[in-house]
Amino acid sequence: KGERLRLPQWLKTDIAMGKDYHRLKENLRDLKLHTVCEEAKCPNIGECWGGAKGTATATIMVLGDTCTRGCRFCSVKTARNPPPPDPLEPVNTAKAIASWGLDYVVLTSVDRDDLPDGGAAHFAETVREIKKSKSEMLVECLTPDFRGNMDCVATVAESGLDVYAHNVETVEDLQWLVRDPRANYQQSLEVLKFVKSHTPDLVTKTSIMLGLGESDDQVMRVMEDLRRIGVDCVTLGQYMQPTKRHLKVKEYVHPDKFQHWEDVGNKLGFAYTASGPLVRSSYKAGEFYLKNLLK
Ligand code: SF4
Ligand code: SF4
Repeated sequence: KGERLRLPQWLKTDIAMGKDYHRLKENLRDLKLHTVCEEAKCPNIGECWGGAKGTATATIMVLGDTCTRGCRFCSVKTARNPPPPDPLEPVNTAKAIASWGLDYVVLTSVDRDDLPDGGAAHFAETVREIKKSKSEMLVECLTPDFRGNMDCVATVAESGLDVYAHNVETVEDLQWLVRDPRANYQQSLEVLKFVKSHTPDLVTKTSIMLGLGESDDQVMRVMEDLRRIGVDCVTLGQYMQPTKRHLKVKEYVHPDKFQHWEDVGNKLGFAYTASGPLVRSSYKAGEFYLKNLLK
């Protein structure tokens, strides 16, 4: 058992709240949406919810709050047979999101290995309902790997979304330690590769956590693998241990190192690389995509 590392200064942040943050927060109460932003106490909530005008971003959970997997970095609760999804969730979520005042929404979910399609149709229906309620809303889906079932991936990819995200989470050699045994590096790469070849107009995106004990060479290899299969965007952020029962942080990676990876990403030719201690998969996604990629 090692000592727990001290939190470095660069991770002790004041959370600045913009005007839109308060507006969105007030509206949220009546809408019964579950945001990852609030539930994970994300430090970027002020920037994402209250960022530059027309770029308000939030991450919404669909398909319930109970996962069939148990990754060692994730604090979502788990069960073999979670309750069935609410069939009205797609339409109700879409209505709530449309009325909430967002510009960019990330839909994500737990893994539902108990459902025959892993929840793919539910994701797709939610996207279609959102676009029906508010066609100008940009939608990103951050999906499970669907156990590598490309029919499920295609269902989501064809739903009318703008950005398809799936996270590789960590370097190849640490997958066994960090992720549930049903997940693996090749399977996640296959998902991203399939999306790009099946629907080339979609922006594809993935995230990597640093601070789990990975070496620079291993990170470099992931970045190269991702670029080789045509992934457009990559984000790198610091892993934070959610509770004492989860994997310990091996290293608080210095901001200069994060900057280094951002430079590497730009050199490798990603359309967009975001890398910093507090960067999360959906960090200010609206701002970046609206400005750089989708218009
Ligand atoms: Fe958490 Fe996703 Fe792993 Fe489930 S599959 S435990 S939600 S990271
Ligand atoms: Fe929400 Fe993601 Fe922004 Fe955090 S980074 S506030 S989870 S949209």
